[in-house]
Amino acid sequence: MGTRNARLLDLAYEPILIRDAEDRITYWNAGAERLYGWNRTEVLGRSSHELLQTQFPEPFEHVRELFLEYRQWQGELVHTTRSGERVIVSSRWVMDDDPEAGLLTLETNFDLTALQASKAALQASEHRLRSIFDLSPFGIGIRDESTGRFSMVNRAFTHLTGYPEAELLSVTLDLPASFGEQADSYRTMLTGKLDLYSTELPFTRKDGHEIWLAVTARALDRAGTGQPATTLVLLSDVTARRSAEIELQDLNATLEQRIRERTHDLEESNRDLEAFSYSVSHDLRAPLRAIRGFADALREDYADRLDSRALSYLQEIESGGSRMTQLIDDLLAYSRLGRASIPLSPVLLLDAVQRATTDVHHCEPSIDIPEGLAAKAHRPTLVQVLVNLLTNACKFVRPGTAPQIRICAEKRGSSARLWIEDNGIGIAPEHQGRIFHVFERLHGQETYPGTGIGLAIVRRSMQRMNGEAGVDSELGQGSRFWIELPLAETK
Ligand code: ADP
Repeated sequence: MGTRNARLLDLAYEPILIRDAEDRITYWNAGAERLYGWNRTEVLGRSSHELLQTQFPEPFEHVRELFLEYRQWQGELVHTTRSGERVIVSSRWVMDDDPEAGLLTLETNFDLTALQASKAALQASEHRLRSIFDLSPFGIGIRDESTGRFSMVNRAFTHLTGYPEAELLSVTLDLPASFGEQADSYRTMLTGKLDLYSTELPFTRKDGHEIWLAVTARALDRAGTGQPATTLVLLSDVTARRSAEIELQDLNATLEQRIRERTHDLEESNRDLEAFSYSVSHDLRAPLRAIRGFADALREDYADRLDSRALSYLQEIESGGSRMTQLIDDLLAYSRLGRASIPLSPVLLLDAVQRATTDVHHCEPSIDIPEGLAAKAHRPTLVQVLVNLLTNACKFVRPGTAPQIRICAEKRGSSARLWIEDNGIGIAPEHQGRIFHVFERLHGQETYPGTGIGLAIVRRSMQRMNGEAGVDSELGQGSRFWIELPLAETK
C-alpha cells in the first residue's frame, strides 16, 4: 500500500486492518492501535482472530463460507484488547482478490461498547421510571394534546377514576373544559406562561361514586411550535381531607351558636344560684338576729344567776353569732356584686387608697402613687377591694411581727397597676390560684380568723370593672397582691 494511502487510512478514527488469505495481519491503522492497544510492529504477521480472541455471532466456518461466497461480510464481534478488556464492534469485511498478489481482506470495525453501555443505562433508567409509573399511588397519565387522548395511564389512574385503561385511552377528552372555571389556567399552562397547573375538583367515578381529585398538570415538551405535544397529568384522591374541611367549617359555623346557647344557660343558672344565695343569706339574718338578741337578753337579765360554765357557753353562742353575721354580710356583699350595676368613671387611685386606709384600723402603709393617676372604676367597689387587700396584708403576719405595708402604682400601657406589698407569711405558688375562690382559706379560724370571701370579692369586683387581680408571693417571703384597671383620662 502506498504510504500516502496508509497515512489517509490512519486518519480514520475507526480501527482498520488488512489481513491476507491466512488471516495474518498485513496492515493495522492508528485507530486499531488506539482501540486494541498493540502497535503496528507488534501485530504484523499475526493471526487477527487469535490476537483479538474474536468471538463470532455464528460458527467461524459458516462466516468464512458466507464471506468467500459473497466476498463481504458484516456482523457484531467481540474482541479482547491488549489489557484484557472486551469490546463489542460492528465489523465489516471486504475482499480484494488479486490473481497476482493473492487474496486480501479489508476489515473495518466500529466500536459499539460505549453505545451498548449507554443503551443499557437508558434501559435501566427506563425500567426505574416505569416502576415509579406503575407503583405510584398517584394517578399518572400522559396526554397527547394534539389528539386529546391519554396515551398512557398507570394503575392508580384507573383505580382513582374507576375506568379501565382501554376505555381511558380510547376516549377523546376536552380536558380543559372539564375544569370549568379553571379551564383558562390549564390553557395558560399549555402556552408555557404557567409552569404548573393545579386544581381540586369534584369527580364522579365510573361507579357513580363522588370523590374529590387534586389534579396537577405540566407540559412535557414544547419543541418547535411552542405548543406542548404531551402533558403529564397527576391525580390524587383528596376526599378525606375535603370532607374533614367541610366538617370543620360546619362545626365552626355552629360553634358560635352553641357558645351563645351555653353562655345563656350558664348566665341563667348563675342568676338562679345568686338569687338563691342572696335569699338564703337574707333569710338567715332574722333567726340569727333572734339568736343574738336572746343571747344579749340572757346576759343582761340572768348574768348574775349563771355559773361560769354557763357564761362560757353564752360567750361561744355570741362569738359564733358574730362570725355568722360576718359570713352573711360578706356573702350578701359578694352576691350583690353580681347583681347590682356598677357605673364606671375616672377614680384617682391615691384618693381611693387614702379612703381605704382610714377604714382599716391600725394600718399605716407607705404610699407611693403618682398624683394624677386615675383608672376607670366604681369608687365604692374599688375602695372595698383595697380594704379587703389591706385587711389581709395586716392580718396574715407571723404572731409578734408588726405589719409593714407598701402601696405603689404605675401606668402600664393603657392600664394602671397597683401593688400592695406586705411582710407577711406569704403564699406557696400552688395555692395562689385558688385563694381567689369563695371559701378557700389556707388556715384554721384559730390561727387567722376570716370567712374566705374577701379575695373572691376582690376578683369579682375587678372583673366587673374590666380589670384583673393577682398575686406574686413565696411562702415565708411576704406577698405582693396587684390589681389592674383600664386607665382613665383626667382633666
Ligand atoms: P380570709 O381573709 O377571710 O381568710 P380571703 O378570701 O381574703 O379570706 O383570703 C383567702 C386566703 O388567702 C386567706 O385565708 C389566706 O390563707 C390567704 N391570704 C390572703 N391574703 C393573704 C396575705 N396577704 N398573705 C398571706 N396569705 C393571704
